[in-house]
Amino acid sequence: MKCDLCPRQCKADRETSYGYCGAGRKMRIARAALHYWEEPCISGKNGSGAVFFTGCALRCVYCQNHEISFCPSGGKELELPGREIGVPELIDIFNDLKEQGAHNINLVTGDHFIPDIAAAVSDSKMRGFDLPFIFNCSGYETVESLRILEGLIDVYLTDYKYEEKELAKALSNAENYPETVKAALSEMVRQQPVCEYDGEGMLKKGVIVRNLLLPKHVMNSKKILKYLFEVYGGRVIISIMSQYTPNGFIPDEFPYLKRRVTRAEYERLTDYALKLGIENAYIQDITSFGSSFIPEFGDIGQD
Ligand code: SF4
Repeated sequence: MKCDLCPRQCKADRETSYGYCGAGRKMRIARAALHYWEEPCISGKNGSGAVFFTGCALRCVYCQNHEISFCPSGGKELELPGREIGVPELIDIFNDLKEQGAHNINLVTGDHFIPDIAAAVSDSKMRGFDLPFIFNCSGYETVESLRILEGLIDVYLTDYKYEEKELAKALSNAENYPETVKAALSEMVRQQPVCEYDGEGMLKKGVIVRNLLLPKHVMNSKKILKYLFEVYGGRVIISIMSQYTPNGFIPDEFPYLKRRVTRAEYERLTDYALKLGIENAYIQDITSFGSSFIPEFGDIGQD
């Protein structure tokens, strides 16, 4: 088996080794718990039932979840936290989260496990599981892999990280990110073209696109907002995020990533969004500066 599930196309034999993303044969998760720090239409009062998968095909140098995403060996051996699970256990986790009161099931960075995730969601839906399923991803997915999720995922919650390919290359070793995310987003909107809410304002169907503003890169984010507005207007919800938190592994060649976004940088971006005419958007409360929205990982335990 040579894996070509994601745009990295590393062709790893995941039966016997691990891919660039750190994934081997089985799903691996770092945390499953109610999560309160997503957009209000996702977290609501009760929290979103988040399942954090370990590993990631992007491995951005500034990763906000580096504790669970990084495979420092570059896929040569497994060094990721968390524990392996199969499809039946993932179904049990969905049911546990529902019993805890979750508004939805939030599948975080599961791109490298899409076939098993699709099997678990399909089985749950066939048994009458009625919470929305959210696919919470980086935007670095192939159209083919997203098609596996058609009819299963109710809400796509995707990042849109880069419009500048030089930046994508420098920070995520993914020069093809801009064209990849455009094709992926188009497929997500094809599958879920209309945002629908329940009576309590919780999102039941649709697409949310997130841009995490990076220090010193307001122009990259402005280009993203312009693209989203021109192509999708109000059909997708845009989430403009200020919460960038430096991790402890930023290489010295990117000194500006070792600080938070300034209030002035964020205001330049949000002023631009208003000037464009963007209305269907979340803007973070200015008082959230200095706050961390990163959960504690590890309460699911190691192998
Ligand atoms: S999902 Fe992982 S193993 Fe498969 S192509 Fe992408 S990086 Fe490689």
